[in-house]
Amino acid sequence: MAAQGKLAHSVLLQGDDGLDDFAIALALYLLCRAPNDNLACGRCKDCELFAAGSHPDFHYTGLEEKASQIKVDQIRLLIDFVTKTAQREKRKVVVLNPASAMNINAANALLKCLEEPSGDTVLILLQESQKMLLPTIRSRCSVLKLPQPSKNSAVAWLEAKGVASPEDALKYAQNSPLLAWRLSSEGQLSLWQKIYQLLDKHIQRGMNPMQLVLAWKGVALSELIQIVLSWLEDKIRSAFAAGVERQVVVKLYTCRDSLAKKKQRLHLGFNLNEQLVLEEVAIELQACADLSPKSL
Ligand SMILES: [Zn+2]
Repeated sequence: MAAQGKLAHSVLLQGDDGLDDFAIALALYLLCRAPNDNLACGRCKDCELFAAGSHPDFHYTGLEEKASQIKVDQIRLLIDFVTKTAQREKRKVVVLNPASAMNINAANALLKCLEEPSGDTVLILLQESQKMLLPTIRSRCSVLKLPQPSKNSAVAWLEAKGVASPEDALKYAQNSPLLAWRLSSEGQLSLWQKIYQLLDKHIQRGMNPMQLVLAWKGVALSELIQIVLSWLEDKIRSAFAAGVERQVVVKLYTCRDSLAKKKQRLHLGFNLNEQLVLEEVAIELQACADLSPKSL
């Protein structure tokens, strides 16, 4: 759809797993100078700026720390961004996640922005399928429902793109074909495998947090957060499948939620102290260090 240049001004993405990752991949694709085969190139200046979290034509609105609602002030900032001219001249892209968390004042402020499109700006609103959204917002967007592709079709798509071990790539990417393709095309699979093994060792034997931080040296913070998040989600699934005690699952979830917040803060453009965040992650993972190796 985007490839044919027909993407609407306001898009409401509805779905569940991988919704945020899909929105980010779509935003990157829309800003990339040399997209290829429905994917961003990963090499141009726009892709570089985006990866560094400093693309001037990208704006992310999400939940602030400890907040359960998106507030009207955040929507005012979003509108300010929309009314400005694109700095890199292609277009501007806004991701609003989750749209259902807007309070009523925020939603009313956004309505006007949805009614009066400004230049070549694409607004991408995210809505998890079980969450409610005001009909006035929904009716002003083109709705795009993200079906979860079957594992077979994801494997077939990756094989057609020349991925050598699609099953492995999908395992690390939590079955998201887009992420699996990125990991494979950027040669990241061995890094993911290495960090998964390290975390597995940590969950069984408990490593000193500083040992973990040292072993993560050289890995970009956003990449590391994504890897640890995927690993935790994998462990949560295994914990459910193995029927382990509730306490273990709660520990894993607490770690996961804290990391997901850090990921959002990175998207929001917070200037995070990388070393400090790495240490925080390692210390929070201590809670998962004494889980029974037999159960996971
Ligand atoms: Zn690019």
